[in-house]
Amino acid sequence: MERKICTKCSKCHTSTVSLATLTYDVEIDHDGRTYHVHVPDLVTPKCSNCGQLYFDDESSEQISRALRK
Ligand SMILES: [Zn+2]
Repeated sequence: MERKICTKCSKCHTSTVSLATLTYDVEIDHDGRTYHVHVPDLVTPKCSNCGQLYFDDESSEQISRALRK
């Protein structure tokens, strides 16, 4: 299935958003605790102009999988 992403960046208003693979670190509050989640190969839409990251269903799922580990 082809992954559909929005190529328009809502931050800098250029159409330079494309899928990028990156290392992503985030703190997530879950069940009253803060978890440090490290995703070494997150594939998510990113604006190549301003660097803004966007999360779609697939990358959100990738993050929640990393959280459950
Ligand atoms: Zn942008």
